[in-house]
Amino acid sequence: MGGDRGKAEKKSSRTRICATLIPIVLACCIIGSTGENVEMSRPLQQLPAVDEDIHVTNEESGGLLPTTLEPYHYKVWLQPYFTESKDGSKFLDLDGKVDIYFNCIEDTRNITVHHEYMTILKYELYDISGEVDKLLQTESNTTITGWDWYIITSMGSLQAGVNYRLYMEYVGTVNHLDNFGFYMGTYTEDAIVKTFVASQFEAIAARRAFPCFDEPAYKATFDTALVYRPEYVALSNTYSILNDTYYDPNTDEVWSVTYFGTTVKMSTYLNAYTVGDWACVQSTTRNGIDLRIWCQPSLLYQAEYALNVGMVQLSNFEDLWNIPYPMAKMDMSALPVFSSGAMENWGLVFYRENYLLYSIEAGHTPDRRKDVAQVIAHELIHQWFGNLVTMEWWSHLWLNEGFATYFEYVGTHWVEPGFEMFEQFFQTEAQYGTFQSDQQGDSHPLIMDVAPNDANSMFNAMTYLKGGCIIKLMDGFVGVDLMFEGFRNYLNQFSYDNAVSDDLWAALTQTIELDMGGNMKDIFGYNMKELMDPWTLQMGFPVVNLTRTSTTAIQADQGHFLIDPNDVVEDEEYGNLGYVWHVPLTFTHKTEQLFTNPNMEWLHLTSAVLTLDGATDNDWYIANINQTALIRVNYDVDNWGKLTQQLLVDYKALPVRNRAHLINDALVLGQAQQLDHVVSMEIIQYLYNEIEYMPWQAYEDEQYYTKYMLWRTSTYGLLQNYISNLVSPNYASLGWNFDYTEDIDYFRRLDTLRIACDYNHADCVANATNQYAAWMADPDNNKIEINMRSTVYCTAIRHGGENEWNFAYNRQRIDPEEQNRLRSAMGCTQLNYLLTGYMEEALTGDEFGARITIGFVRDNSALGFSLAWTFTVDNFVALNTIYGDSAFDIAWTFANQMNTNKDLLELNAFGNVYSDMPVEAANDFNEAVKRVETNILWMERNEDQIRVFLESL
Ligand SMILES: [Zn+2]
Repeated sequence: MGGDRGKAEKKSSRTRICATLIPIVLACCIIGSTGENVEMSRPLQQLPAVDEDIHVTNEESGGLLPTTLEPYHYKVWLQPYFTESKDGSKFLDLDGKVDIYFNCIEDTRNITVHHEYMTILKYELYDISGEVDKLLQTESNTTITGWDWYIITSMGSLQAGVNYRLYMEYVGTVNHLDNFGFYMGTYTEDAIVKTFVASQFEAIAARRAFPCFDEPAYKATFDTALVYRPEYVALSNTYSILNDTYYDPNTDEVWSVTYFGTTVKMSTYLNAYTVGDWACVQSTTRNGIDLRIWCQPSLLYQAEYALNVGMVQLSNFEDLWNIPYPMAKMDMSALPVFSSGAMENWGLVFYRENYLLYSIEAGHTPDRRKDVAQVIAHELIHQWFGNLVTMEWWSHLWLNEGFATYFEYVGTHWVEPGFEMFEQFFQTEAQYGTFQSDQQGDSHPLIMDVAPNDANSMFNAMTYLKGGCIIKLMDGFVGVDLMFEGFRNYLNQFSYDNAVSDDLWAALTQTIELDMGGNMKDIFGYNMKELMDPWTLQMGFPVVNLTRTSTTAIQADQGHFLIDPNDVVEDEEYGNLGYVWHVPLTFTHKTEQLFTNPNMEWLHLTSAVLTLDGATDNDWYIANINQTALIRVNYDVDNWGKLTQQLLVDYKALPVRNRAHLINDALVLGQAQQLDHVVSMEIIQYLYNEIEYMPWQAYEDEQYYTKYMLWRTSTYGLLQNYISNLVSPNYASLGWNFDYTEDIDYFRRLDTLRIACDYNHADCVANATNQYAAWMADPDNNKIEINMRSTVYCTAIRHGGENEWNFAYNRQRIDPEEQNRLRSAMGCTQLNYLLTGYMEEALTGDEFGARITIGFVRDNSALGFSLAWTFTVDNFVALNTIYGDSAFDIAWTFANQMNTNKDLLELNAFGNVYSDMPVEAANDFNEAVKRVETNILWMERNEDQIRVFLESL
């Protein structure tokens, strides 16, 4: 809040502006085969041949490099032509030279390295064990394209224990297609079109810049030289040690060349370079690390926030681990074009501009400030978890990304406590994150085998979000301090090395044993690996069902939670360990209310009985206190009722995280038909008094199933009035005045207004309509709050007429920033002919794309849903012509909202018309039919109960 900003501003007064590199001339690293130690005149050495099948790779390796050689140092020389050479002969070429120093582990004649999108012009192999390097004779080379392998075969065998050097010259490519490898980006600054180059190597793209052993376990040190036009700035992982010029006789040009200092020992994917028109602000952390924020010069005024955040987080992480950040500097650079959100390259972290640059003067909203603080924390913690200790193989990527997710919250809390990060962890990462995919029958485990060329597939929500939740789960039962001690142990044991998940479990077990003074398995019955494997090696998570069997006894059973009652799990495919878990279940009851130090009982792969000491019959009980375990919790109906009463009488008796937990669980368990859905409608009744963000957010995230089931029924009017009334006190107190210095209140206001307008709160509708009218009157001056625009447009168009719709139609053609929001909002109109015309135009004109337009109409109102279905059926031949077989997906998506026998008849009739559909579409059709049948059952079970409840209010 105000105080925090004041603090940040004070610190920034130490900021210095640096427009160029600071050259520290120490030494020069020579790159190339003509280095002084090379003795060229000696005859080529003949080594004894070994019995080896040289050109056949072992299919069983699955594309993993042979383990016969181990690189320990690289010298890399890169000259990227991201502008044309003066003589016009070179553009988008990458001239490169590399020396790879390696040790032979096992006798072999093959040297296998990765390379991609390059032509190897020349290679030379040297024995460097003596005083002078000896050139060795090579026999042949082979390329294995599918695995990006380049295999050089020597005449004789390389000897175990001897060091060698492979020198290569090549022409690669400055990538301008997918922004991976060494790529070129184009952007406009002050109306001038500019270009830059930068690298993005994770997971498997370092091989596009230089031939290398491109697997994370092959750690080495790197010396890099970059050649570029003098008007640019060049950056890499380390400080430059020499800036020089270089005359290229081929193009008759004088270039700048910067030699960078030797890196620490690290994986290939952490190398980084950029050359461009960059400027920076810089400061020095309290632990003496130079921190610089780089970006386009015109955006430099937005860089100070990142500098302030980085200063705090980098030093705090060093202090937390008691392991110094090992580089002299940390550069964080905002790139106008970048494929990922950000990348943790050691010493040179890259970000998309919106994840590094923030300034209230630029009109940036608090959600951007939160993103920036969070993403910087994510990248800085990677300097330890990822860079210092790296997963041995991509299967264990969660050891990088799960930790990064968890420490985003820790790091953001240090600089922005007003965002209440810890309150939001479970809702964001578990309930609305992990659970969304992990509650499906076709989810997958956190740790799974992955082939080398599929490494990128591991960068999925499971790795990041469930990985973070696994750490949260541990902090709940190990305790934060002891868990961090275990992490220190793990970091110290595997520094500059690689680890697998079992190494983490072993380090934690050691630490816990030291603390408890004995063998964990003997004392506790399980070690950390045994406790954690069910969470990481099989998909899914449990629902814990609690039933009161006497005044003081609760039966606790666990089951695999699946959102769809029809889901069938194909066991083998998804790492079945019986779908049971070790659940540390915390709980308390009304009389004791132990929320800071609750009771805990373990469900070890089975059930348990909980004892409610001192409870009376009238007491409620509650579990998973403060949301630490990765579980859903279901209670007996009587207890749901007691909790609801408590919330209505005095909601503050329960912690805010548990209030959000109850709302989310009730809505989702109702959807999954494991609880009467009316329970969720009853429990949210207390929201009328709730002023905290998280419980409302829990409702906002999970409201859609209820809405879609009811909005074509007469009950929907009652639901609309109910929600509109619940939100009205917050609506009255928060209003429409957005203040960008706010923290969590900014998000509260957004949630409140969105819910109010969506459920027809009269003042919200009037306000939205007026704001839209003001924009229509002055189209070049859109004053609507940026994060409210979708809601305001939709509300004004839903309650407006042809004028509002036509304005959106015309405006979206000329206003690219608002185009998507306006197109979606055009699906909100309640004028039949406009909706149908909108879809017809999309089908014939093809300006918008029929598929997406049908979606906008389908999901924005009950009327739209019905019209969109009719339109899809009537025009399926045309849709099929445009989209081929995937047109069937458009039809099946309607099943999510279909919930009547008439719907089912229509869906089946449609399926019968196209009974010759391809097998995949037919499978999806069967799934869609099951979905509708499930929805019909939900309606039969729930609609009347919900209506009776809403009528009783
Ligand atoms: Zn990451």
